[in-house]
Amino acid sequence: MTSLISLQGVSRRYGEGASELMALNQISLEIQEGEFIAIMGASGSGKSTAMNILGCLDTPTAGAYLFKGVHVEALSRDQRARIRRRYLGFVFQGFNLLARTSAQENVELPLLYRGDSQAGRKKAAREALAAVGLAGWEHHTPSQLSGGQQQRVAIARAIVTEPAVVLADEPTGNLDTQRSHEIMSLLVGLNRDHGITVLMVTHEPDMAAYAHRMVHFKDGKVLKDAANPNPSSSPPLQSDLTPETV
Ligand code: ADP
Ligand code: MG
Repeated sequence: MTSLISLQGVSRRYGEGASELMALNQISLEIQEGEFIAIMGASGSGKSTAMNILGCLDTPTAGAYLFKGVHVEALSRDQRARIRRRYLGFVFQGFNLLARTSAQENVELPLLYRGDSQAGRKKAAREALAAVGLAGWEHHTPSQLSGGQQQRVAIARAIVTEPAVVLADEPTGNLDTQRSHEIMSLLVGLNRDHGITVLMVTHEPDMAAYAHRMVHFKDGKVLKDAANPNPSSSPPLQSDLTPETV
């Protein structure tokens, strides 16, 4: 069976000569559809470099990356963008929402890029916001939302296109413990209830504990890759009260 994702001896070199740095050094990884993987490791160990490659934002300087059997390193920039739009959703540590733009419009954005109709965008974005417990918050801008709510908008934006894979790079890095667990509840639900493959970078063991498999990076190499026999179970997500009822 073809893996959803296959990294084969992938390296990523930055710089030349004396300033050369191997951010990734011959990484090999097989990821199957429906997995929930936590990528861990010290700062500078290559986690974000790996996520950028997995997310088709960057290409390896050596080795092969196959996504659904397709050699990503051989694709053009446009072809990689097409893979991103069709199959991938992204969540970042800093939320990366447009500031003076409502939650609704932020979530509609990937659908706008895809050329969906206005009516279709509106409906899908409302549904995605409801799925992250933010029904009633559509017209709020990021500055009117808490950090946890902003990250939930970002998750709604990531899932509105119904991606096969969600890539989350330290999604709870800017959040307190309770908000972090709420974000993990959402990621667990996407994986369990919607079959979305989740690849999450974290340095917090409590958050990694939700994943079914943990991959540890060290100095650009995979130090350890093991199943988590007892993933943490997440509390059910509560919908936020609508602003009118607060
Ligand atoms: P992590 O996400 O695990 O903290 P990164 O993947 O961001 O690590 O970085 C791995 C190594 O590559 C680090 O030494 C970092 O300084 C270096 N690096 C990352 N991005 C660049 C870049 N654009 N140019 C040069 N070096 C980089
Ligand atoms: Mg990083």
